[in-house]
Formats: sequence, structure tokens, C-alpha cells
Amino acid sequence: MAETTVIRDVDYLVAWDKESGRQRYLRGADIAFSGSNIVHVGARYPGQADRTIDGRKLMVMPGLINMHNHTNTMPAFKGVREELGSKKFYMSALYDGWPLFYPEPEDQHWNSHFAYAECLLSGVTTVVDMCRPFPGWIETMAQSGLRGYIAPIFESARWYTDNGYQVNYRWAEDDGRKAMDLALKTMDQAEAHNSGRLTGMVSPMAADTCSVELIRDSLAEARRRKRPMQLHVGEAAVEFHEMTRRHGMSQVQWLHQHGLLGPELTLGHGIFLDHHSWLHWATNEDVKLLAANGCSVSHCPIVFSRYGITLENFGSYREAGINMTIGTDTHPHNMIEEMRAAITLARVSAENMFNTLTADVFHAATAGGAKALGREDIGGLAVGMKADMVLVDLDCPAMQPVYDPLRCLIFTAADRGVRDVFVDGVQVVADRKVLTLDQAGAAAHISAMQKRIMAKVPERHYAKLTAEQVSPLTLPESRA
Ligand SMILES: [Zn+2]
Repeated sequence: MAETTVIRDVDYLVAWDKESGRQRYLRGADIAFSGSNIVHVGARYPGQADRTIDGRKLMVMPGLINMHNHTNTMPAFKGVREELGSKKFYMSALYDGWPLFYPEPEDQHWNSHFAYAECLLSGVTTVVDMCRPFPGWIETMAQSGLRGYIAPIFESARWYTDNGYQVNYRWAEDDGRKAMDLALKTMDQAEAHNSGRLTGMVSPMAADTCSVELIRDSLAEARRRKRPMQLHVGEAAVEFHEMTRRHGMSQVQWLHQHGLLGPELTLGHGIFLDHHSWLHWATNEDVKLLAANGCSVSHCPIVFSRYGITLENFGSYREAGINMTIGTDTHPHNMIEEMRAAITLARVSAENMFNTLTADVFHAATAGGAKALGREDIGGLAVGMKADMVLVDLDCPAMQPVYDPLRCLIFTAADRGVRDVFVDGVQVVADRKVLTLDQAGAAAHISAMQKRIMAKVPERHYAKLTAEQVSPLTLPESRA
């Protein structure tokens, strides 16, 4: 018999209302789960329980769905890349920043290890992770206890620059095909893992780095497997200019022309579409096309805001009918801070505080992610859904006074409010400690890794600059 846990008399239970398709606060309820499934939400649970948790000082909410990550690299970039944009690539650091600091494959699992711990501590229970396959990926994801989407990336071309102002594409379609084969095999391995929590996602890298044939075959494979697909689209102004130069139309219009938009597809970022104010393009069709074709967008506001870039804007995408989702993309992998940024940056970019409300972004971070992944069993708390849930401590000072617990959590407490996390009915965070991973141990490996990477920067840089020249320190440094 599966073990049953009941959380009694929960002060605020964020319950999923299937009829309205919205979350709502349910006061004074019990929630019970048996094995991996929720068996009761409502007034007093009449059954027997193996474990009882007192819910009187808690908000119990559905686990957050983090729709966009590259965990194998990001933790090693901490302190290095936050101010490393390029003055000649519309402030993006994709082309001459990221490749300089890329960790070696055998080190990458420590980054994922650390990032998964960050995710869990901010209430994430499902993570979509887009990486080139590296040793230990599936094992680390399984060990974390997260519900994981293994999304191995592949592409027909790689960016490079040899002067810091022109982006070139090194096309190698055969390599892209081989990488796609490896990606599909890696997805199969993940799905065969005995944790039962891992699923594959088809993830061709980007609109500008994949041939139309590769994207077409990717979408066909996603449909054949009944799995979601994610493609980076609109992540840099340079990419928009490149695609309009190649095709005379935006990336979205190009995908649409080839019949490559659909409800399986989540666009990674979706910022630089034809309406974006930096582009002054003459059409204003992309948002409507994405909505009409049932597409999702994974919105990762923090990493772009560091480069002065933002999506314009969350509210207009949502009102047009695009399924909006949230991802952290980079460190600190803090989904609650990410939700805060999504709200405030939407209001700033719209010059209207009513553009986006807390409920809109909370929906995106829960039910929106579930919809993008094609799932009805996560993203909410209701009978029959998975026991993926977060227990928020209403007693902690950062959460008080509690008039509206989600506003307290998102605008103030963030991860300080997250006490316990359950995934698939198994406790993975207890009293703010990750039970499944060694975050401090991973941090020590990442510190050593970053030193090794920094030493390699001159051999990777087109003008042989050092790490300190590329990314100068915040303050001048000297020794006493
Ligand atoms: Zn990405």
C-alpha cells in the first residue's frame, strides 16, 4: 500500500478549479496524497494517514514549472556574465560572451547539481532543461527528485564571431542530424529511467541555427512521440535582423510559412518579434500568429533585463491568446524572483500597472507550464493530479503580515518563504534544506571549475583578451 500523507486545516490552499481553469484560495482545507497522487482536497479528510502535517500556519501551493533552463553551464557564470553584454550585438552576450566561459563536459553535472538545488529551494517541482548531452545528466536529474524534462539541444549551425561585430554561422547539417539522433536517444534513456519522473522534450536550438528541414523533422518527431518541443526564437535583435536578411520576413512568419507553428511548440523567449520597439519592422503579425496556432512562450525576464532587454509585453501576449510560461534560464534559478520580475517588467514596458497582475504570472508559472508540456496532471492541486506541492511558511517574518500570501511570497519573501517541497508525493525539501542533493559540495566544484575556465579565456577569445579584460571587476582591486 502506498503511504498516505494529510496536511490538515491548511490556512491557504491554492486549489485548482478545473471548471474555470484558474487557481483559487481555499481556506481551512485538508489535502491528502497517497503515493504520487492527490486523493483529497476539501473539508476534513476522513481516511487514515501515515503522516499528518499541521497546515494551520501554511500556504500549500502547486509546485512551480520552470520552463527554460541550461543548467549545465549557468552556475559557473555567476559574477562573470551579469555585465558582459556586447556593445556591437545590441547588448546581447550570446555571440562573444557565452562561448568564452563554457565549462568542459566532464564538469557540467556539478552546475546542474547546483542549479537543481536552487530550483527546489524556490518551489520548482518541474524543470525543463535544454543542454548538449553531458556525462551524468540523467543521473543528476533523477537524483534531484525533480520532475524533469530532458531536452537535448541540436542544431545545423553554430554561431561564431572573429571580430566582435559580425555574427557568422558555421553550417554543418550532417552534424546537426547526428546531434538530433543523439538527442532522441538521450530522451529515450531519460524516459526509461526507473524514477518514472523524467520525460523527453524535442529541442532544436534556435530559428537562426537550424535548417527548415531540421525544424520540420523535429516537429514531426515531437508529434509522433506526443512530446513537447522548444525552440529559441526572438532572443536577440541580431537574430531578427539575420532572419529578415535571409528570408525577408520575421522568424515567426518564416516558421508559419513552413507550417511549423503548433500547440506542441514553445518559443524560448519570444522577445524580438516583429512588434518589438527596437526593431521598427513594418508588420505586427507575430503575436497574432503565435496565438492563432496555439503556441506557448517561455518568458525568462531576469536574464534579459540584465542586458537592458525586455519582452514587450507579457499582458499583450496573454490577451492575444498566447499560452505564457515562466523560466529562469540562468542563476539564481529562483522562480519566485523570476515571477516578480515578470510582473514588474511587464508593467514598466507597458507603462501600465494593470497590464499584468500577480494572478496572471502565477498562472503562467503553474498551469501555463503544464499546458505547454501537454499535461493535465501537474500545475495545480486537485484530486487525481500529481502530489507536486510547496509548503510556504506563513509564520516566517518575511511573509508577515499575511493579507494575500501570494503577493507576500512574490513581492517580498521569495525563497525565504518556502519551507518544504514534495515532488511525486516524495519530500525533497524539508525546513529549507534540499534532501536529495549536496549544494555546498557542488559549489566547491563550481568554484574550482570557474578558475579553470577563466584561465582558458585568452585562447578562446578572438582578440586573445583575458577574462579580467572581458569582464572587469566591479571595483578596482589591490592587495594590502
Ligand atoms: Zn535558452
